[in-house]
Amino acid sequence: MSQFTIPKFLLYLVFLIITRGNHYTLNSDVITTRSTSRSRSTEPHLSTDAPKIIIGGGPASGKGTQCEIISMQFGVVHLSSGDILREAVKGDSYIGRIAQKYMDEGKLVPDDVIIEVINERLKQDDCQKRGWLLDGFPRTKYQAEALLKAKMVPDAFIVLEVPDYILIDRVCGRRMDPLTGKIYNLKYDPPTDEAVRTRLMKRSDDDEEKIKTRILDYKAHIEAVKSYFSDQIVTVDGSLPSGKVSAQVVEGIKMRLASASLHSTKRSEGQKWFPVA
Ligand code: AMP
Repeated sequence: MSQFTIPKFLLYLVFLIITRGNHYTLNSDVITTRSTSRSRSTEPHLSTDAPKIIIGGGPASGKGTQCEIISMQFGVVHLSSGDILREAVKGDSYIGRIAQKYMDEGKLVPDDVIIEVINERLKQDDCQKRGWLLDGFPRTKYQAEALLKAKMVPDAFIVLEVPDYILIDRVCGRRMDPLTGKIYNLKYDPPTDEAVRTRLMKRSDDDEEKIKTRILDYKAHIEAVKSYFSDQIVTVDGSLPSGKVSAQVVEGIKMRLASASLHSTKRSEGQKWFPVA
């Protein structure tokens, strides 16, 4: 036998070094890190590798603003259950006709209706490849159970906490520009352009009575929903200035993604691997 044969344990060591590498570090950008690990693979993007995020919070807690930042930062598909239902109402679809009367009264749409809509949407290709950000779902215990039953387990669940009086104040001044979809607040963030100001519209469920119903609904369900995701929860004070909120939200998601990645690495390390021949 040649005296230059490489010892087997050295080959095994090289193998171990090559096959590791799916780690996240908090200082590096999560998307870059994830795509680096993907680019080493010959497989198409794996759904298990794509970020899965939920954001919860009372009405006008700032979810919409944070969702814009999260989807830009992490490249995930933003799914707002409220927006999906409003589109369905506008399009006069079967789902829209069922949802409308509940939405007009500021009440929750029946669980089976919204569960069906969201589960179907999550199965689509873009969500599977890029990951998803669920905004406004799950809102009840049954919706949380349905999500987990469909094996849609989030990496992070952001909860924006805002006192009721601030929520009421924000909702009463909330307006939308129908041309751009941009949300303004007459008190805190009014448009500077007069033309925009005159075309602003108010959401039909954004009045003081309906907001109280929606806050009560939120409070009645949120603890039960959170109990399904206790390992993934990140609580953020949503009454802080929006820049501070987004910094905490992004950092919280990175931490949860790092921890989810560590768990999956540990799982794969638990398997037994042997050098061949
Ligand atoms: P949002 O835009 O999230 O405030 O939702 C607007 C309205 O859509 C709510 O007041 C409910 O009537 C309905 N809705 C949105 N998401 C859900 C959900 N997950 N479960 C039940 N109803 C929902």
